[in-house]
Amino acid sequence: MSELHHIGLAGAAAGLRARRFSSVELAETFLKRIERNQETLNAFISVTRAQALSDAAAADRALAAGDGGALTGVPIAHKDLFCTRGVRTTCGSCILDNFVSPYDATVVAKLKHAGAVMLGKTNMDEFAMGSSNETSYYGTVRNPWDPRLVPGGSSGGSAAAVAARLVPGATATDTGGSIRQPAALCGITGLKPTYGRVSRYGMVAFASSLDQGGVLTVSAADAALMLREMAGFDPNDSTSVEREVPDYVALLGEPIAGLRVGLLKEFFDKGLDPGNERRVREALKVFESLGARLTEVSLPNLPLSVPVYYVVAPAECSSNLARFDGVRYGHRCEQPRDLQDLYRRSRGEGFGAEVKRRIMTGTYVLSAGYYDAYYLKAQRVRQLISADFTRAFASVDVLIGPTTPTPAFAIGAKTADPITMYLNDIYTIGANLAGLPAVSVPCGFVGKLPVGLQIVGPHFSEARLLTAAHAYQRATDWHTQVPEGYA
Ligand code: GLN
Repeated sequence: MSELHHIGLAGAAAGLRARRFSSVELAETFLKRIERNQETLNAFISVTRAQALSDAAAADRALAAGDGGALTGVPIAHKDLFCTRGVRTTCGSCILDNFVSPYDATVVAKLKHAGAVMLGKTNMDEFAMGSSNETSYYGTVRNPWDPRLVPGGSSGGSAAAVAARLVPGATATDTGGSIRQPAALCGITGLKPTYGRVSRYGMVAFASSLDQGGVLTVSAADAALMLREMAGFDPNDSTSVEREVPDYVALLGEPIAGLRVGLLKEFFDKGLDPGNERRVREALKVFESLGARLTEVSLPNLPLSVPVYYVVAPAECSSNLARFDGVRYGHRCEQPRDLQDLYRRSRGEGFGAEVKRRIMTGTYVLSAGYYDAYYLKAQRVRQLISADFTRAFASVDVLIGPTTPTPAFAIGAKTADPITMYLNDIYTIGANLAGLPAVSVPCGFVGKLPVGLQIVGPHFSEARLLTAAHAYQRATDWHTQVPEGYA
């Protein structure tokens, strides 16, 4: 495990600063792995080799001059819904196949400012709608643990890339579980921050009140470093919160003895695979041995989170996606007869089936006569779910449970039944509805497949979550396991 691709994000930053290797060397190592595995995994939509190598050379010059930021020369990848100036941003959709953004998303700009070198843009479910990466216009991403299985979604490209050590860290977004669920299915660490912690400016919108950018890395320590560099207030995003960003890295070593851990009764329900449950319960024992105190708590409204989400998210998506009309940018149909025809055919040709399903559901629940019955009611239940979490956090510091009900499933197994697919996010959606931060860390295997443990905390408790995850990773080595063929 001495090869450069096992170095991790923090290891890469430290090694570069100590001049143990160059940024160009590092970029070459990872670019080669990306290119070699593209056909099998399909984790990338764009690979920006030439730009990456010239950015890496510039990083090496900065390092030689003793300059640079926290990530100078460190290779990363961006989920293909973060706008990148001059580099195509597709959002996994045919409708944006030809879209080149004139500006960088704030997350992209911040990571650039910290010195990170982008190697490419990762594959994803179309407009981040999905749990398996099967809705991407660019084809399914495959799970490095078994190429017959899905990597999870919607950030499946980022997750597969980090799991296969094609890149030490990648950005991702989580609207209902899209960072944590693929992290769990690919055996890596995934952090979804508090709503408002990371700017959404330049992040193509799916459901604006739920979307949040975050990170996928091998370890919690790497996640701490990457998050510290991309979080913070942004005047361009009115929902970003003006609040100091703690030094997550410096706080990693805090002891967790005395941590009050709540076990969510609703998370250990009959839908949970017995193998997953066993691994999660073993992880809880590790937390106990580290001094955590476990108690059971109940969030009675939590079982309503999937139906609430599938009203709120499609409603917001139908409104956000109205901007793709074939007029200003993106796909335009051939020879439109008139404006209606232009809209109808451009959208009809540009959007895939799952996106259309969401737009139709969303338009329906927002329409006059149904708004009160569906949308308003869903918003009320959302408030009840938030209140349940607030009540729970009066007596515990974090909630711990499974990230997903099962390990990775076969490609094609759930595509015919959207409801079964939607149930994948049953344990993750609650945090989005309440705007809470949550992290998923690998906690063992069922057969040969990784299982994720989820830790949810109160608003702006990222440091606590990362510290707890880091303490667990110091006591275990699940996060260091690499899928066969990628060592
Ligand atoms: N799987 C969920 C959905 O399809 C969540 C996706 C996400 O978090 N972007 O909506």
